[in-house]
Amino acid sequence: MTSLSKYFAASLCAVSLSLTAMNAEDNFKYTVDNFADIEVLRYKVPGFEDLSLNQKRLVYYLTEAALQGRDILWDQYGKYNLEIRGLLEDAYTSYKGDRNTPEFKAFEKYLKQVWFGNGIHHHYSTDKFTPEFTQEYFETLIPAEKRPANFSTICEVIFNPDVMPKRVNQADGADLVATSACNFYDGLTQKEVEEFYAQRKDTTDLTPISHGLNTRLVKKDGKIEEQVYKVGGLYSPAIEKIVANLEKAVAYAENDAQKNIIEALIKYYRTGDLHDFDTYSILWTDDTASQVDFINGFIESYGDPLGMTGSWESIVNFKNQEASNRTELLSSNAQWFEDRSPVDPRFRKPVVKGVSAKVITAAILAGDSYPSTPIGINLPNADWIRAAHGSKSVTIENITQAYDAASHGNGFNEEFVIDEPTRKLLDDYLFITDNLHTDLHECLGHGSGRLLPGVDPDAMKAHGSTLEETRADLFALYYLADPKLIELGLLDNPEAYKAEYYKYILNGLMTQLVRIEPGKDVEEAHMRNRQLIAAWALEHGKKDNVIEMVEINGKHFIKINDYEKLRGLFGELLAEIQRIKSEGDYQAGASLVETYAVKVDPAIHKEVLDRYSKLTIAPYRGFVNPVYTPVFDENGEISDVTISYTEDYPTQMLRYSRDYSPLTK
Ligand code: ZN
Repeated sequence: MTSLSKYFAASLCAVSLSLTAMNAEDNFKYTVDNFADIEVLRYKVPGFEDLSLNQKRLVYYLTEAALQGRDILWDQYGKYNLEIRGLLEDAYTSYKGDRNTPEFKAFEKYLKQVWFGNGIHHHYSTDKFTPEFTQEYFETLIPAEKRPANFSTICEVIFNPDVMPKRVNQADGADLVATSACNFYDGLTQKEVEEFYAQRKDTTDLTPISHGLNTRLVKKDGKIEEQVYKVGGLYSPAIEKIVANLEKAVAYAENDAQKNIIEALIKYYRTGDLHDFDTYSILWTDDTASQVDFINGFIESYGDPLGMTGSWESIVNFKNQEASNRTELLSSNAQWFEDRSPVDPRFRKPVVKGVSAKVITAAILAGDSYPSTPIGINLPNADWIRAAHGSKSVTIENITQAYDAASHGNGFNEEFVIDEPTRKLLDDYLFITDNLHTDLHECLGHGSGRLLPGVDPDAMKAHGSTLEETRADLFALYYLADPKLIELGLLDNPEAYKAEYYKYILNGLMTQLVRIEPGKDVEEAHMRNRQLIAAWALEHGKKDNVIEMVEINGKHFIKINDYEKLRGLFGELLAEIQRIKSEGDYQAGASLVETYAVKVDPAIHKEVLDRYSKLTIAPYRGFVNPVYTPVFDENGEISDVTISYTEDYPTQMLRYSRDYSPLTK
C-alpha cells in the first residue's frame, strides 16, 4: 500500500494571522492543555445544530461507535498499554496527597503523554516516553494489593529505556518486526512475516485483498497463526459494541446507499473477511450524496513497520457545503490539470476517474485520529478500488480553522520569516493557499499519474509512502502557482502562491526540525517528503540562485529570490518522481530519499531548536472532542442531541476509560 492517505498539518504555526470575523468575535477558548511537547486544543462543530433530527441521531450513534473502539488502538500500539493505562489512571484518581509536588506533577505529565500517544510511545516519533519520576515513586502510588502479578514486567516496560524503545522502527538493516514495540506480530521475525504474506499474495489477482489489514500474526509452538479482528475473534468485546451502535445508526441512515454502507461494515466486522471490507469500501467510495459520513475500522497502516496491518480509527463528519464548492471546482477540472501536468505524457492518466472532493466538519475523532488528527483524508487505500471507483478526498476545515485560530500571534513568523514584506505575504495569503495546497494534494495529487503496465505498485518498498507524498505535494505546489486558479476564482492575486512556497521551503529546510530530537534523523514519511522537496530545490536552484539560506545577526533565514524558477524546479522534480513511480525505478527513488530526505544538518538543527524553544509553542497539537448528550423523549427515542465544548483533557480521557473500555472490563 503506497498511498499515504492522511494529511497532517504541514507547518506547526506559520499560519495566517488574518483571522476571520467569526473568530475575532467569539470568546471560544481553543487551548485546553499544555504539557511536554503537546498543546491540546478544542474544535468547534459549526452547523451541527442545523442538522435534521435524524441526522443528529445518526451522528450520535456513529460517534458512540467511534468511541467504543478506543481500547483496540491502545492494544495494537503495545501489548502492555491497556494495563499500564489502568494502573496510571487508578493511581491518578485515587491519590490523596499533595498534587503540586514535583514528583506528582511529573507523574501527571507522563500520564497526559501516555493518553496523547494512546500508549507509552510518542504519537509522532514513536519513541518511548521517559518518565521524569522514579520507579520508587511510582511504587508509592500503587499499593501492593493493586499490583498485578506482572508488576515487575510493567515497571521494566515503563522505566527501562532498553525495553520496547520504539513503537515503529524504520531503521535500515534492523529486523523491523522484532525491534518494533507495536502489537501486530508476536514471536515472529520480519522475514517470517514477509514469507507468510508472500505465500498468500496472488500477483495475478486484479482485485487483491489487503492481506494482513485486520490480523495479528502470532507464532505458537513453531506454528504461525492469524488472529483476526472480528466479532468472535481478537478484540471481540470492543467490536461487538461498535457493531451494536452501527446497528442503531442504520435506522437513521439518510438514504439506502448509506444504509447499505453501514450494513456492509457490520457484515465485515462479523466475518473479518477482507473481501467484505472491499465491498464496504466500494459502497463507501461511491456514496457522495450523503451529508453525514464516517470512517470506522482498520484503515491506515502507518503504525505497522511493514505497512500491512491497519490501526483502528474513526472520524464522523458531515459536509460543509459552502467550502466544498472550492474542492468541487478543482475536481471537476481534474482532467485539465492532468493533461498539463509537467510529467512525461506516457505517465499521465488519459482519463482521471472520479476524484470526489469535499470539505467536511469533523464531529468526533477517535482511535488513531485522536487526539492527534489529520487535516485531510483520501481513501480508500486499495489501488484497484481507487482505479475502478476513484477515491473520496476530504479536507477537515473545522480542524484547520482551530489550528489557525490557536496560532494567532504566537511569535513564530516574527522569529523565522526573513522580513516584513514576507510576513505580510503570509498574513494575507497563507491560510487560503495552505488550504488550497491541501485540496490540490488530496483531490488531484494522489489521483494523478499512472504506472506503466506490469509495474508493481509496491516497487518503492519502504520508501513508497515518502515518495507518494512527495508526488502529491509537488503536484499541489506546481499548480498552486498556475493562473488557472485565478481563472477558477480560487485565488484573487497572482502572487498569492508565494506565501505557500515560502512557508513550504522554510518548513522543509528548517522549522519542521523542531519535531526532531538532536542527533536523530528525519524518519516520518511526510517530514521526509517535505525535506526531500525543499533540499532538492535548494541544491538544484543553486546555479540560478533561486533559494538562499542567508545569515543575519547569527541567525539563518530562507530567502527566495526567484519564485517562478522555484515553480519550474517543482515541476522538474515532479516529472522525475512520477517517472520513478511509473517505471518502478526503486534505485532512483531510494537514492533521492537517502540523499535529501533523511539527514539533518546538526548546526541548523540546533539553531532552530534554540530559537524555537524561546517561543513557548508546542511542536505537536491535538484535540479533545466535544461532548454529545442525547435527550430522550417519553418513548425512549432521541428527541435532540446537544453539544458542549467545556470538557477538559484529563476529564475526557478518564471518562472515555470509564465509559468506553470494553477490553479492560
Ligand atoms: Zn497525501
